[in-house]
Order: sequence, then C-alpha cells, then structure tokens
Amino acid sequence: MPRTHKIEDYRNFGIMAHIDAGKTTTTERVLFYTGKSHKLGETHEGAATMDWMAQEQERGITITSAATTAYWKDKRLNIIDTPGHVDFTIEVERSLRVLDGAVALLDANAGVEPQTETVWRQADKYHVPRMIFVNKMDKIGADFFRCIDMIKTRLGAAPLVINLPIGAETEFKGVVDLVQMKGIIWTDESLGAQFDYIDIPADLQAQAEEYREKLVEQAVEIDEAAMEAYLEGTMPDEETLKGLIRKGTISNTFVPVLCGSAFKNKGVQPLLDAVVDYLPSPVEVPDIKGIDPKTEAEIKRRSSDEEPMSLLAFKVMNDPFVGSLTFCRIYSGKLESGTQVLNTVKDKRERIGRMLHMHANHREDIKEAYAGDIVAIAGLKDVTTGDTLCEPLKPVILERMEFPEPVIEIAIEPKTKADQEKMGMALNRLAQEDPSFRVGTDEESGQTIIKGMGELHLDILVDRMKREFKVEANIGAPQVAYRETITKQAEVDYTHKKQTGGSGQFARVKIVLEPGEQGTGFVFENKIVGGAVPKEYIPGVE
Ligand code: GDP
Repeated sequence: MPRTHKIEDYRNFGIMAHIDAGKTTTTERVLFYTGKSHKLGETHEGAATMDWMAQEQERGITITSAATTAYWKDKRLNIIDTPGHVDFTIEVERSLRVLDGAVALLDANAGVEPQTETVWRQADKYHVPRMIFVNKMDKIGADFFRCIDMIKTRLGAAPLVINLPIGAETEFKGVVDLVQMKGIIWTDESLGAQFDYIDIPADLQAQAEEYREKLVEQAVEIDEAAMEAYLEGTMPDEETLKGLIRKGTISNTFVPVLCGSAFKNKGVQPLLDAVVDYLPSPVEVPDIKGIDPKTEAEIKRRSSDEEPMSLLAFKVMNDPFVGSLTFCRIYSGKLESGTQVLNTVKDKRERIGRMLHMHANHREDIKEAYAGDIVAIAGLKDVTTGDTLCEPLKPVILERMEFPEPVIEIAIEPKTKADQEKMGMALNRLAQEDPSFRVGTDEESGQTIIKGMGELHLDILVDRMKREFKVEANIGAPQVAYRETITKQAEVDYTHKKQTGGSGQFARVKIVLEPGEQGTGFVFENKIVGGAVPKEYIPGVE
C-alpha cells in the first residue's frame, strides 16, 4: 500500500506527566475524539488500549511504552506512551528518543510536581518541542495562573498562553481561544464531543485582550519581518500567528499552554488542534545522526523514503495475541515485509515477517511502512531495545539511547527445581525487553541477583515472571545497588554535589537527614526528586 499521509502530516508525540495528572484519562479522550469508536471509560478493556498489561490496571500506573496511531484533521498522529513514575525514567528516556514533540500535563491544582520537573529536564536534554495542557481545571483549588507562574519558576520555560479558562473548579465551562479570540464551551450531554463557539464572555474581555497582546508580542519576536510589521501597527492574521507559534514551539523558544478538564471532556479538541498546528513533523526536527559501524564516520539520515532504510527499536514487548513485538521508529527509507534487515548492534541479519500498526481498538496488518512511521514488528528473534535495523549494504548505527545503571538489587530464588530452569529463561527474556533490568550472580553466595531502577520496577518484573512465565520465586530484601551517602549539609548544597549514576544524571542515594534518621532518595540533576525520604525534603511537595 502506498503512503496514506505525507511525512509532513505526521505528528509523533508523547503525553508526559506526573502520575495522577490525568495522562490515562487524556489519552482515552484523545482516542475517543479521534474517532476510534470505543466507549469512554472502557480504555482498560481488552487489548484496545495502550495500558493493556494487567499489572498496569491493578497498579493504576502506565508502565509500557507502546505507540498508538490515530487521525486528526487529515494528520496522522502516533501517540507514544510515556510513563510518569520515577522508577521508569528509562521508559521515559526511550520514548523521548523516538518522539518529535510532547504534551506535558499538569494537574491544575498541584501545578508543577517533582516528576513533572524530572521528565521536563529529560525532554530538555533531547530538545523536544513541547506544549503544556493544564488539566483538571474542574477540580477544587484549580488555579491556571499559578500553574503559569510555576512553569516559569520551576521549569524555567517561557509559557505562551493560548487558552484562558472560562470559570474554574465546579464552574469551569470552557476556554477562550486567544488565537481565534473566541470562547469555546462544551455541552455535557454529548460527552464533550460537541462544542459551541461563543463570543468572549464580557467579564473575561479585558483579560482576554491583555493575554492576546502578550501572545502576539511573544510570537512576533520569533520573526524579524513579523516584528517589524507589528511595530508598524499591522496585527498578524490568524494563519500568520499560528505559523509564528509553530516556529517558536519547534525552536523551543516558548511553550504553548492550554487548559481543560479531560475528565469533564473539556478542552481536548483544541489540544489536538494544537498538536497538529504547533508540534513538528519528522522533517522539522534535526536529522537523525549515526555512525558507520566499520569506519565510525558520522552519518546523517534525512526523514525521507528516498534515503537508505534505518530503524531504531525502542520497545520490545510480549503481546498476548501476537507474541513478541518490537516497536520501531522508521527514521529513513521504506520497510517492506519479507526483506532482510541488518541489526548493526548485534551484527546479525533478520527477516521482517509480520508488521503491524497499532490503533486504539484494532491492529492493522501492513506490508510496507515509511519514514516517520512507528511500526510493530512481530517475531524478531534477537533485537533488543536500542538496536538499529538497516539495509545490509548501507549499514548505520543510530544514536544509542542512554540507559542508567540499575540502582536497586534483590536476591531471587526459585521456589522449586522445576522453577529453576524456567526462571533463567524468563529473566533473560525480561532483560532483553528492558535494558535497565540486569541479572547477575552474587559472588559470595552464588545467588541470582536482579537489578533495576527501583523497588516497584523489580516488583513488577517478579510479578510478570509469575504471570507470563509461571515461575514462582522467593525474593530477598532490596539493597541499594548504587549508593552514595549525602548528609543533610550536602543536601542543602545540591548544586555542588557530584552528578552520579550511569547516565551521569540519575542516582538513588542514601540520605542521612539527622543522626539516626535516614532514607533512600532518587536524585536527578542534584535534586532529590522522590524516594523514601520525608516529603519536606523533596522540593515541590507540601
Ligand atoms: P495518570 O496517572 O496520569 O494516568 O492519571 P489518570 O488519568 O489515571 O487520572 C488520575 C485521577 O485523576 C483519576 O481518578 C481521574 O479520574 C482523575 N482525573 C483525570 N483527569 C481529570 C480532570 O480533568 N478533572 C478531575 N477532577 N479529575 C481528573
């Protein structure tokens, strides 16, 4: 099948958030409004969702990082799942690696939370163009303008307000769209599927004008000609203004901010419009870099079907229906089923068999995939997260992902002899899926040791071993695999603390608060961002 959408019409983006900010709800609404006809509130059923692992449902967190394709206004959206729990920074890392833009969600009441800061910094590292959706505007204590302040002070970003809320808390009704200078209100009966454009309410008129002026002033700064025209008294028209916002977003000059309530079905369509209008297509981000495996010379691959094929595997997972699935981003070229590809990292060739596009409620078998696509390949034997697949005669190793060193370890022992053999296989399999999960042996005791990014991470893997591989095991007490003790004194002085951990940025550390009082904390860029330390030591938590 030929291309259905030009590469310029692709938006590969992720939704990132602190846990509980409403990522699942927002994603569910996005899939509902993009027309993939499942009923609201049913995202957790069957294989129709991004969160289809049983544990994710039980634990209420999103662990996997699959991708779902949807359509909005003739554009092809690939929504790449980005988990918010701090134990899964590695998952965030790998999704950030393959997406071109992101929407960060804030809880309108909590504002910028520690994990928002963590993922924000990670996105900074990859220069990911972003927008912010201030969710939960219907919640008691929702404060849009406090969120705007926190975006400046906590994230150090320049917010570009493009929506203002109409009402707040239980009176939240809709938004003022500052680009079109219109009000939008949603009808409760249609589950938010329908909305009406209204005149800006009289009591918001002055505020809307003030923010519109700020918006235009920020936007014209991105372009000299537009700035000059503005200074001479010409207001940019709507299309020009959108173009300026797009340019400033993609260049990471500012961050468009919208608001709404996913739960109350308000504000989601303008968010989708903004994804289409402001986030980049694959050709608007820098070309992917790689090296020639033989000469180590740098190679750049343009996002185009005409270039030699190159893919990055970013997620290996076991699908209950299809078996092993490897999610890949096609950076360049065209991929056809039946062709042979070279895995340059492993120096092995594999044949591409079944390929799928994952939609909200169905899987689509495809024979060809193109630059910009995210594709799930079934049955690859020896591909691990981070591997590059390419044309055997035009080899390249794409920029690798950085995997932090594991920070927690637990001894694990099979319950019976029968479990012993299966355990080895299961652990290998899980390690293949997840590069931040390691298996080793304790030199003294000879026990098998598993290492991961946190207790929750290891808990989940042990649980998966039981469910998916039917292996029963006893586990020991978690130990800190990577340890550094910092004192309360050092804590006050974060900026001088050495950056630690595998990637140079993450580390789980033992924190001594008072003599006799200590805890384990998760440190990111010199700040404690989570862990078993009293809340008052974690910035941003009251
Ligand atoms: P996630 O952890 O980020 O995926 O968050 P969820 O989507 O699971 O939402 C966490 C909780 O917040 C759930 O109880 C949701 O019903 C609730 N929630 C999500 N969006 C909204 C919203 O817009 N308003 C309110 N009041 N609650 C919301």
